[in-house]
Order: sequence, then C-alpha cells, then structure tokens
Amino acid sequence: MKAPRGTQDVLPGRSAAWLRLEAITREVMTSFGYREIRTPIFEHTELFSRGVGEATDVVEKEMYTFEDRSGRSITLRPEGTAPVARAYIEHGMHLWPQPVKVFYIGPMFRYERPQAGRLRQHYQIGAEALGSADPALDAEVIVLPIEIFRRMGLRRFEVHLNSIGCPRCRPVYRERLLAYLRPRADQLCESCQRRLERSPLRVLDCKVPSCREVTQDAPNAVDSLCDQCRAHFDALRAHLDRLEVPHVLDFRLVRGFDYYTRTVFEVLSEDLGAQNAVAGGGRYDGLVETLGGKPTPGVGFASGMERALLAASEAGEPLEEPGWLDVFVASEGEGGREEALRLLYRLRRAGLRADVDYQGRSLKAQLKLADRAGARVAVIVGGDQGKDEAARPYVVRHLGTGQQEQVSADGIDALLARWLATEETDSRREPWRSRATAPS
Ligand SMILES: [Zn+2]
Ligand SMILES: [Zn+2]
Repeated sequence: MKAPRGTQDVLPGRSAAWLRLEAITREVMTSFGYREIRTPIFEHTELFSRGVGEATDVVEKEMYTFEDRSGRSITLRPEGTAPVARAYIEHGMHLWPQPVKVFYIGPMFRYERPQAGRLRQHYQIGAEALGSADPALDAEVIVLPIEIFRRMGLRRFEVHLNSIGCPRCRPVYRERLLAYLRPRADQLCESCQRRLERSPLRVLDCKVPSCREVTQDAPNAVDSLCDQCRAHFDALRAHLDRLEVPHVLDFRLVRGFDYYTRTVFEVLSEDLGAQNAVAGGGRYDGLVETLGGKPTPGVGFASGMERALLAASEAGEPLEEPGWLDVFVASEGEGGREEALRLLYRLRRAGLRADVDYQGRSLKAQLKLADRAGARVAVIVGGDQGKDEAARPYVVRHLGTGQQEQVSADGIDALLARWLATEETDSRREPWRSRATAPS
C-alpha cells in the first residue's frame, strides 16, 4: 500500500522542523494579538464557489468536491479565508471588539497535478483580521509572516505590493485594461484568450513569455484608483516605510481569488539567490457580505508550510532533528532493569526526555542506541551491586565528553542537573518542548 498521489508522510525526525515552525507561528501570532481558530477541514461547496469565485482556477478545476451520503456537496477546504469569514458570520463575531484577529495552522486540499511538485494535501499557516479597514492593519498582516520567517532563519525580505481597487474603481481599470488587451488578443496564449473578457486581470500574471511581452506596457491598477483607494494605498506604503519593510510596486500582482479588494501582496525571500514567495495575501472588504454577513472589511495572509520549510532549510536551518532524548537509562541484569524502569519514570516526570531499551539488547547495544537517539547522558543501572537501594551506585556517562562518574541514587539528581544544565537546551533548536528541567 502507498499513500494517495500528491500526499506525503511527515516522518519523526522531519516532524521536529514542522513543530518548530508551528511553535514560532503561535509565538509570533500571539505577540501580535492574534488567537487561534480551528475551522472544519470540509465545508459546503457553496462557501468556496461564492467566496473564492466561480470563475477562479481553484474553484473551476482544483477542488476536492464530493457528495456525502446524504447527497450534500462537500468540499475539502482549498484555502483558509472563506471558512474564517463563514465562522465570523455564523458566530456573530461582528459583536466582538473589532477587529477580530485570528490565525490558523492546518491542511488545505487542491486537486493539482502532482508532477508539478505540488501536493494535493498541503499545510498552511495564515492570519485574518476582520472588522477594520485601517491600512495599519494591512501593514501588520504583511509584517506577520516576515517576523515568523525571520525567526525561522530567513533573511532579506522584499514585499511585492499592488492595489486592485474597490467595486467603484476596479470596473474603470478593467475597462482600461480590456481596451489595451483586446487589440492585442491574438498575441496572447490560449488560456489568456479564453479568460480575457471574464478576468482580464489574470492575463497580467500569466507566465507565458509572449503574454508578458504584451502586458509589459499595460495600464496598471494603481493609476486607476479612486481617491479613497489611493489614500489607503499611500497610507499603507507610508506604514511600511516607517516599519522599514522594503516593498516594491508590482502591477502584475493580482492574486487568483475574486474576494480581493485594494491591497494584494506577496512576501519574497531572497535567501536563495532567486526570489521565492513565502507568503501572500491581501484585503477582502467584500467577502463577508458576499457570504451573507454585514459589510465587513478584512485583510489576511497565508503561507505554505512545505515551501517555507524548504526555504528555511536552504537558508541553513536544520530540517532533521538532531536527537530526541536527554537521558538513556541502560541496565544490566534483572535487578538492574527493574531499577532502571523506576528511575525512568522519575526522570520523565521531571520533564526530561528519557527512554530505555525494550528489545533485550546487550549493554553495548543499549549505549549505541542512546547515541543514535542523541541522548546527552546515559545512566547505567547495574545488576546486583549491593542490596541497599539508596546506596547502590549508578554509572552516569556523558555521551558527548565520555566523562563518567559513579553516584548513589540520592546523588544522581544533582549530577544530572549539573550535566544537563551546562549544555542548556538550545531553544532555537528545540522550542517545541519546554526547557529541560533538572529532576528534583
Ligand atoms: Zn476604489
Ligand atoms: Zn497567457
């Protein structure tokens, strides 16, 4: 048996990097005043066809949609914003203090061609702030992923920014763009020709060289903004300047979903030489209303975790966990084993990562296993040296230095505390667990 196409297992060892990204995400989100929301993994199909847009690539050809046993059309969520907007309406969050700021971490599903290196189940982190149109909030949502990825080891960020206007000024831009594109339609690729009248803005982000050539001198959206949209965009740029976030205007940036209004952005990391988008998002002031709620502005971002981890690893962050134990309790003989199990649970209760052998290995093989698990210390509990338990000596070996000492059961806590404290847990490496505490 194999896992379905386009899915992957995250194995132990690798999962440590995922936990680290999740821990950093929770830490940063919380410090920005965002609280975690968990929405269902499946929703009514209508949520996405109405929210994301009937004519978008995602809804048209990439959704995992099926009928459940009662004949309802269900879709595995392809993105996180529409479900959050649905929850906002359903739970009357407009009565909460505004803006309501939430974040999520979880899987999204898209039926894509796996050979393109894309996963059908992939993970996203994202944030949404609903109920305020303040451009300072757009800036906050742009800074959020930068702060997360900075702590993941990425450097050198650049924000690509555009404003695609509001329902008042976007139709004006649309017409200007169409007037420019129509006479040049025969030079566009087939799919751009097909979607030209329906979604001319998407022609701008087509990657086909001939399309890029045609659109090189196309009118840009920012020049068609109404006064309010223009003021919003200028204020956002001023906020980013004050926050010293490098940003450039990118007229090709339109993002694929219907719900975007005004601000759209991508955060690129230049750590790899080539620029790599690690997050994207924008404002969606009409989404809540489209889904049946009161008019409510909103802004958010999302980021693919697989890609973020890849970027972090190429920036030098370890993807593989260096080790998973602090202490290995090795034993010899029946009496030693019983004593080892007693000690094991005491160490675990004290918050140490500790384990023993369950395969009847020789002492030598047990120590090899301790090494493999990255344990810093091995405690060797002997078989029958002495009947008085408190006086029975443990051999404690520091696996890094090879240093070895004999201590009584009473003395072991102090020794472990000393040895494990001198090599204090590297919180950058292992922030997903609480700092190792000395047994007491
Ligand atoms: Zn406008
Ligand atoms: Zn094209």
